[in-house]
Amino acid sequence: VIELEDIHKAYGELEVIKGVSLRAERGQVVSLIGSSGSGKSTLLRCANLLEESQSGAIRFKGEDVRWRGAGHHRRPADPRQVTRIRTNLAMVFQQFNLWAHMTVLQNVMEAPVTVLGRDRVEVEAAARRYLDKVGVGDKADAWPAQLSGGQQQRVAIARALAMEPEALLFDEPTSALDPELEQEVVRVIKALAAEGRTMVLVTHDMRLARDVSDHVVFLHQGLVCEEGPPGRLFDAPGTERLQGFLSAGQ
Ligand code: ATP
Ligand code: MG
Repeated sequence: VIELEDIHKAYGELEVIKGVSLRAERGQVVSLIGSSGSGKSTLLRCANLLEESQSGAIRFKGEDVRWRGAGHHRRPADPRQVTRIRTNLAMVFQQFNLWAHMTVLQNVMEAPVTVLGRDRVEVEAAARRYLDKVGVGDKADAWPAQLSGGQQQRVAIARALAMEPEALLFDEPTSALDPELEQEVVRVIKALAAEGRTMVLVTHDMRLARDVSDHVVFLHQGLVCEEGPPGRLFDAPGTERLQGFLSAGQ
């Protein structure tokens, strides 16, 4: 579904992604691990075109992103393609970024109605189903500030699901949460993985990565240092770097 090929990304002179390839097939969960600053968030943001990469191919369902310009001037050529890809790769962030001035239900309904132009009545019914699915159906009329962090993050996941995306991109969805609240979000992510959703998951939670991933990619300083099935990566890391990373208890 999503394919990145030899992606390069720099902020000015600072090269943060130095030629990374990554693919997630339909139904696969791919986890991205690596120390702080290794480029995990940047790569995810390049994948759904929130950031511009300077070279490399990005493919979504076999369709190449079309570019104009080159290097630091490279930009996606077709805004409609960007919108289509972005709505199909729904992102869930570390900070849940719910709209504070909207109720939980309005948060979930907003994008399907305004971006996709769907019918309000149908969207509301679907939004309530997604809220139920992540276990916050009873909070539909609450304001974000009235919810715990774990509840807010589950609303953010419901909001992503309401776009009916092809794939979900998670950027450390549990790391802003207290350990007790983390587990409620982990349960939701595991349930989504079990139903065969395509996901790319950036996480510091190695237990979660091991439990849900089909494939794990270990980034180090903007390059893939090691990748493979979780069993092999976690039980028999092939590089000292990954060994060090894992034993540091990240
Ligand atoms: P963490 O685990 O802390 O979230 P990460 O692996 O997600 O780290 P990134 O956020 O992708 O790392 O950052 C990779 C590098 O790019 C870092 O050196 C960071 O300082 C740099 N960087 C990220 N965003 C910007 C920006 N907007 N401008 C300049 N440099 C940036
Ligand atoms: Mg990050």
